[in-house]
Amino acid sequence: MNLVDVTVIGGGPCGLFASFYAGLRGMSVRIVDSLPELGGQLTALYPEKYVYDMPGFPKVLAKDLARDLIAQGVQFGPELALEETAQVLEKTEDGYLITTTKGTQLPTRTIIIAAGAGAFQPTKIGVPREEEFHGSGIHYGVRDKSVFQNKRVAIVGGGDSAFDWALNLLDVAGDMSLIHRRDVFKAHEDSIEKVKDSRVDMKIWYAIKELHGDGKLTGVTLEHTQTKETLHHECDEVIVNIGFKSSIGPIKEWGLEIEKNQIKVDQFFETNLPGIFAVGDVCAFPGKLKLIATGVGEAATAVCIAKTRIDPSAKLFPGHSSDMETPPAPAAV
Ligand SMILES: Cc1cc2nc3c(=O)[nH]c(=O)nc-3n(C[C@H](O)[C@H](O)[C@H](O)COP(=O)(O)OP(=O)(O)OC[C@H]3O[C@@H](n4cnc5c(N)ncnc54)[C@H](O)[C@@H]3O)c2cc1C
Repeated sequence: MNLVDVTVIGGGPCGLFASFYAGLRGMSVRIVDSLPELGGQLTALYPEKYVYDMPGFPKVLAKDLARDLIAQGVQFGPELALEETAQVLEKTEDGYLITTTKGTQLPTRTIIIAAGAGAFQPTKIGVPREEEFHGSGIHYGVRDKSVFQNKRVAIVGGGDSAFDWALNLLDVAGDMSLIHRRDVFKAHEDSIEKVKDSRVDMKIWYAIKELHGDGKLTGVTLEHTQTKETLHHECDEVIVNIGFKSSIGPIKEWGLEIEKNQIKVDQFFETNLPGIFAVGDVCAFPGKLKLIATGVGEAATAVCIAKTRIDPSAKLFPGHSSDMETPPAPAAV
């Protein structure tokens, strides 16, 4: 891989905006993400939810926001290293060398870490054949509601995601059930009441014990978590919403100052290692808010500081994008 001015670790909203801003400032850019697609939490965790606190958007679907952030983030043609997890960091004469878990070497002058909560791994139910049915009946998120059109859908979980999806799929799914191992829910009371008043069949005190089907899921065995009685429950699709495991993992070994799984930064969003910045959910400073609106501002500032580190004669202030004589040409993705 080429030596670039800045390597952005994480293709979520803050990493994408950093990529855009670095391109605007004439820097060569690379985005690294362990997921196969860009968008971060917007794409992986809540693509079908509405976001209400984006400047200029009274209401926007997370997947639509991700689509536009991606279009903006790649318009200067950054190098994309997807399905690559940044693992090892070494200091070099030019800056740094990142080596990924696949062994790819990524030389770079500066680094912007926008790793959010780290690479995502959904928590599994932990039953036999779960991997076999992954994608053919077992889902760990909803990317496309049409997959559930007229299907018998069982949602597992008792938190906001489980209840939000139960409500969200009412207009497309056929028979729907919500399976939860206790009678206590973490979801908002309002959502709980709405689901209870809907046609969703509440399977409370149950957990999935077995999966059935030949190539495609046709049903599950439920076990009562207290009496241990079992029952057969027919369903085509199971949406598992029992959380995600994430960790900033190998980045913790890079010699960065870490505070409760977040990277400490100064007022320039620079870490204790020169030329390495952290922005978005992964960074820690007094008054930090884990929001997209604030994180993208951190990204713009970090890029401008990185620019002056590489070229001390460069101005910190980028100028107004509206003053650009020619709008940037969109690059092919
Ligand atoms: C259900 C839900 C609803 C939300 N609603 C809102 C809302 O309404 N408004 C709002 O402002 N915020 C909301 N948020 C929070 C918002 O999504 C986050 O603040 C935002 O996604 C943070 O962006 P980021 O770019 O910092 O990180 P992320 O979006 O977390 O992206 C980080 C990316 O880095 C990648 N990565 C991590 N480690 C590595 C590594 N070592 N190598 C390679 N890649 C790596 C990950 O795979 C991921 O794609 C919500 C969050 C959730 C879960």
